[in-house]
Amino acid sequence: MTETPDWSPDWSLVIHGGAGSIERHRLTAAQDSGARAGLAHALDTGSAILSDGGSAVDAVEAAVRVLEEDPHFNAGRGAAFARDGSIELDAAIMDGHTRAAGSVAGITATRSPVGLARRVMEASPHVLLSGAGAEIFAREQGLAAAEPGWFATDERRRQLDELLARNADAFDVDMKYGTVGAVARDRAGHLAAATSTGGVTGKRWGRIGDSPLIGAGTHADDRSSAVSCTGSGEFFIRIGVGHEIAARIRLAGDTPQVAADTVMAEVQALGGTGGVIVTGPAGEALWSFTTPGMYRARATAAGLREVAIYGDE
Ligand code: ASP
Repeated sequence: MTETPDWSPDWSLVIHGGAGSIERHRLTAAQDSGARAGLAHALDTGSAILSDGGSAVDAVEAAVRVLEEDPHFNAGRGAAFARDGSIELDAAIMDGHTRAAGSVAGITATRSPVGLARRVMEASPHVLLSGAGAEIFAREQGLAAAEPGWFATDERRRQLDELLARNADAFDVDMKYGTVGAVARDRAGHLAAATSTGGVTGKRWGRIGDSPLIGAGTHADDRSSAVSCTGSGEFFIRIGVGHEIAARIRLAGDTPQVAADTVMAEVQALGGTGGVIVTGPAGEALWSFTTPGMYRARATAAGLREVAIYGDE
């Protein structure tokens, strides 16, 4: 799917802002340039940390925080609405060096869900906190609460209204996933992954997607790969995409690109759709997706710097 450059075992970073029916004729010029600017800002923020010798964990958190604040993407500000008009956010982070992980689900009041996931990883004995308890933990940790209405945007409300007008269920629409994620390899050779999302428009019943599930939407292990996913989360959960990619690399000897393409083909075969970003131990920095487009960008110490949206870029 993607050409394979010669990777250098130095730092590398890949980010995504979601995959889906993202084609030139569907995006306005302002949406196109706004998304590219947001991706570039996140890429440069994470790259600066890595080129200064910072850790992969710091870089992926910083890149995802930039995208959470950007209303173009379905995470933090600009998140998708649930069917009842609420916004519930999920996020995760994993350190491939220690395989420590933290994640949160059903967040409604904490400004940076990925920042909270990191606190779960570093300041709690748990991996996954949800709902009201996660918010209590956030306040105990002194994390910033979001002002009421901070996450809501007119565009996402319009998408919910459109779905309700069609009386459609989540997934019955022409999906444009907007989840954000980042994966990195730092100069010390450590990998990390982070993902943050509002989930899918029109979700119900406290639905939780793949993003906060370690091994599904988010996974990192220095021995094999760091992975962040976007797409129809239910399928990514059933396959355990993040861990499956890692297992193929570690146990079957696949290259990261072959592993990513193989597992995305499996997602597609089950009826799912979406994409993944991957970094590997040798500095590989790549993606694989089954959709017409994916908001994505990557940078390496060797000078590669790419921002892309459509499948043919
Ligand atoms: N994978 C996310 C979920 O199912 C949605 C997305 O990628 O936009 O919650």
